[in-house]
Amino acid sequence: MALATPTAPASTADGPDELAAFRADTRAWLQAHCPPEMRQPMTSEDDVCWGGRHVKFSSPAQQQWLQAMAGRGWTVPTWPVAYGGAGLSSLQAKVLLQEMRALNCRSPLSSFGIWMLGPALLKFGNEAQKLDHLPKIARGEIRWCQGYSEPNAGSDLASLATRAEDHGDHFTVNGQKIWTSYADQADWIFCLVRTDTSHKHNGISFVLFDMASAGVSTRPILLISGKSPFCETFFDNVRVDKCNLVGTLNAGWDVAKYLLAHEREMIGSIGDRAAAKPIGQQAAAAIGKDTSGRLADPLLRAQIAEFEADEAAFRLTMERAGDLARAKQAHPAMSSMLKYYGAELNKRRWELMMAIYGSDALEWDSERSKHGDTARTWLRTKANSIEGGTSEVQLNIVSKRILELPGA
Ligand SMILES: Cc1cc2nc3c(=O)[nH]c(=O)nc-3n(C[C@H](O)[C@H](O)[C@H](O)COP(=O)(O)OP(=O)(O)OC[C@H]3O[C@@H](n4cnc5c(N)ncnc54)[C@H](O)[C@@H]3O)c2cc1C
Repeated sequence: MALATPTAPASTADGPDELAAFRADTRAWLQAHCPPEMRQPMTSEDDVCWGGRHVKFSSPAQQQWLQAMAGRGWTVPTWPVAYGGAGLSSLQAKVLLQEMRALNCRSPLSSFGIWMLGPALLKFGNEAQKLDHLPKIARGEIRWCQGYSEPNAGSDLASLATRAEDHGDHFTVNGQKIWTSYADQADWIFCLVRTDTSHKHNGISFVLFDMASAGVSTRPILLISGKSPFCETFFDNVRVDKCNLVGTLNAGWDVAKYLLAHEREMIGSIGDRAAAKPIGQQAAAAIGKDTSGRLADPLLRAQIAEFEADEAAFRLTMERAGDLARAKQAHPAMSSMLKYYGAELNKRRWELMMAIYGSDALEWDSERSKHGDTARTWLRTKANSIEGGTSEVQLNIVSKRILELPGA
């Protein structure tokens, strides 16, 4: 869900009859074009399609599904047609999502380009940048990474020190980023650089460059889960042509904040996107039922019921936030609230999954535990309350900007 992505204006297409016809067409098209394999819940990271120059599809069905959806502009349904979207209104996009959910269709493409850079380019990019980058994002041809955090600039991001020196028609970038997710697999990076050392926030610019440029190198960071999804990223005299500056020189902080709001919405909806089987069903399959057909473990039953009620309430809250955004009444700090609660909810989901599968899930390398899949995902969720801004920082934002509590 992208709450504040610029969308096509509400039109007659949003009338009740038109929406009903759109729903019927959409359902028929999805039934005809979504391969049966793409209607199964995702069970591992291999099921996620990230696209990119060096994409390796896990199956012909995954490739076919991406091509079908991209061909219709439905990987980015609300983006204008000229930029690879379908120009749908946000109500039509909601119908599309509902119909995809009803058929259990997987998301055809996971992409930092779609979730983060695209919305920022639509708002701050010039026409040449939009035409160059957005269609490739929509088709999954270029994979992006995010160069924000540095060893001494995380929560206090505006302390970043990576320098971009002006050489007339280009910049030369030097410095280091850290925690750059998938930097070693990305084709391009959107990156915050310091272009003026005399101002903290007003000395930052937002630039784009190819990760294959001379002077870019990455070093993977190994995680507790045994995986290594992110890297340290180093820039040594990297040439960045000025046409790759997004927005105004030294005003990159505005682009950065706008993009962060989209990142936070994306992380907030992480449990929702997983499109896994409902947790109660998974528990029943693993633990069994009592004579009256209820989950055999009464303690777990109560915890799952509480979780599912909170999850349903959160889903409604996200819908409400989407409706408010469409009506241009959303609070600008709403993304912090959604990010905080969505991250905590996803952590709870995986605590419950560990309780359901018990000590079997802790086996790191066995067929029975699918090579520790549940435990690895459980460990990964610990990072949900850090990535995209920590829970503490989100709570600070909610207290100051939404609740208007006095600062410390
Ligand atoms: C899985 C994952 C993926 C990531 N991917 C990327 C990526 O692709 N690109 C990228 O640029 N970055 C990425 N990050 C980095 C992420 O944005 C930072 O980790 C995050 O912003 C926190 O910064 P930090 O790690 O430097 O922690 P710090 O800022 O040093 O914070 C340390 C602790 O102090 C607390 N704290 C700090 N300031 C305050 C305050 N004012 N009030 C209360 N508590 C505070 C924090 O909550 C935290 O508990 C990723 C991180 C993770 C975990």
